[in-house]
Amino acid sequence: MQFTFVTLFPNLIEGYFKDSILKRAIEKGILKIDYCNPRDYSKNKHFKVDDTAVGGGAGMVMNPQPLFDALDDLKNRDEDVHIVFMTPVAKAFVQNDAKRLAKKSHVAFVSGRYEGIDERVIEKYADEVFSIGDYILTGGELASLVICDATSRNIEGVLGNAESLETESFETPLLEAPSFSKPKIYDSLSVPSEYLKGNHSKIRSLKLALSECKTKYFRPNELKKHKAEQHLS
Ligand code: SAM
Repeated sequence: MQFTFVTLFPNLIEGYFKDSILKRAIEKGILKIDYCNPRDYSKNKHFKVDDTAVGGGAGMVMNPQPLFDALDDLKNRDEDVHIVFMTPVAKAFVQNDAKRLAKKSHVAFVSGRYEGIDERVIEKYADEVFSIGDYILTGGELASLVICDATSRNIEGVLGNAESLETESFETPLLEAPSFSKPKIYDSLSVPSEYLKGNHSKIRSLKLALSECKTKYFRPNELKKHKAEQHLS
């Protein structure tokens, strides 16, 4: 699968792929990452990509011309490219979106900077728009990395153990049970004693109970919904 980052600041993104799981996925040929800098398409003699807002308002807005040309070029090179814009006001990106995007062959993330992108670009080119939460970042690069990372984990072969996907939070109605590592006792704190006894059916029951507790604490409404669905079925 290919990810293209449409950004004025590719340096902000590149480092993320230089280590760990995504680096390995690139080396295995599962992921391909490239960059498209709207500044390279600017017809301004100083390669300007932004200007003051028409109609007034604080700050600079990204001009349509460099982005129109960059995105036309991208679409000419691959008509199947799925173009996603980062914007704080859109619907929040969730796990189901990650699973859906993972089925595409090529996703391009368009990052805004300054006061954002001229709306005409979004209207013309967006296949979808996402926010990563109700707060304002200085640019879309972090948001696009978040979405790229969450999507990549759902692509076959990216994770060493695909089983970890099945039990993860947001894959099932309940959040994943708390995890513990070795040693079994650390700083006088023990892992739950049932985990040490090797009775797998009891461990499963305890994990389910702990999942319910965690869901009740962090997402009480989700637990209520889950219980109501269980009651109906
Ligand atoms: N003036 C805009 C507004 O009030 O909606 C905010 C512009 S923000 C400073 C610049 C860029 O950062 C946006 O165009 C978008 O690409 C990105 N961005 C900021 N916050 C974001 C968020 N929560 N989710 C996704 N992208 C975000």
